[in-house]
Amino acid sequence: MHTNSTIELSLSALKKNLHFLKRTLGRDVRISSVVKGNAYGHGIQEFVHMASRCGIDHFSVFDSDEARKVKEVTKKNTEVMIMGFMEDDAISWAIANGVSFFVFEKDRLQKAIKAAKRLHKKAGIHIEVETGMNRTGFGIREIPGVIRLLQTEKDHLEFKGLCTHYAGAESVANHYRVTEQIRVYKKVRSLFSGEGLDPEICHTACSAAAMVYPETRMDMVRIGIMQYGLWPSPETFVSFLNKRKTKTDPLCRVITWKSEVMSIKKVKTGDFIGYGTSFMARQKMKIAVVPVGYSHGYSRSLSNQGRVLIHGRRCVVIGTVGMNMMIVDVSEIPTLKKGDEVMMIGTQGKDTMSVASFSEYSDQLNYELLARLSKNIPRKITD
Ligand SMILES: *Cc1c(COP(=O)(O)O)cnc(C)c1O
Repeated sequence: MHTNSTIELSLSALKKNLHFLKRTLGRDVRISSVVKGNAYGHGIQEFVHMASRCGIDHFSVFDSDEARKVKEVTKKNTEVMIMGFMEDDAISWAIANGVSFFVFEKDRLQKAIKAAKRLHKKAGIHIEVETGMNRTGFGIREIPGVIRLLQTEKDHLEFKGLCTHYAGAESVANHYRVTEQIRVYKKVRSLFSGEGLDPEICHTACSAAAMVYPETRMDMVRIGIMQYGLWPSPETFVSFLNKRKTKTDPLCRVITWKSEVMSIKKVKTGDFIGYGTSFMARQKMKIAVVPVGYSHGYSRSLSNQGRVLIHGRRCVVIGTVGMNMMIVDVSEIPTLKKGDEVMMIGTQGKDTMSVASFSEYSDQLNYELLARLSKNIPRKITD
């Protein structure tokens, strides 16, 4: 565990985000909290614990390792759903532990049936439909075969969900493609219901789809980025604001990431700072070393670009970001001392470093920046 920086998670921010989402999406729409990628870098177990306290009882993960982590910190009646990778062992584990999972190919369906028979317990499955993303999912031609298996093996399968995933609902450039996906999904759903097969729930929407295409909400939405207090894209935020009278952001950032000044020194005019020649002091400067680098998730692409807050001021990262350290310009802070707080993500005084502001300085998306935050940084839950 590194102690050179700390991640704080705000419970009140999460409460506000979930409240906003429930009000916007409607009481009848269940929210599955998507916590893949170490809960988008927030820390999966800490985040799941918080979300459970806020009343969330359905979590979506990518693989069985994440599912186990969620299981460890939740009550028995909390549902866990695996959306992605599973080794063969994981299929038996999931069935035995009541964890449901996406099925997007015959092979997994057959393995699920076999394991369910062996365990004398039904496999809870979500049939994923290929609607146009061309990643995972049964193509429409395979559906009759899937239907037959669901009918003949109904003693071993619980048809929990019929699902799909949209290929970029956060951008209007994909409007045609997403609309087509909705159409294909509905068609496949009618193939199932025509055979008397109705899933317990229909779920297709991620954050962006849930906001931009209300018809995709159906019985449940799989919400990742917005519960953490961030918008899937600037476009999604703007299109939301355009429909609203008050132009304020209803979401609150859950994460804060901070460190401290490790060392301070003065540099002469003309000296290079850090590795190589990427930064030369054009005047006398005062610089501070911060013990955070790319091994902790502060991307090297923020070299000479990134900003941090110290004493409520924006300080520029100078030179290249190292593995464990970076250097910032603190020439304007005469009273700076070792140990003073450095804010990578969060508010200090009147200014805030948002997650989105990172993507302005480099081309990292919100998602990527968060997911890269090292697992070794201690997480602390705050009010
Ligand atoms: C990641 C993911 C989501 C959540 O996406 P957000 O944009 O973060 O809301 C939903 N569904 C699937 C299949 C995903 O992989």
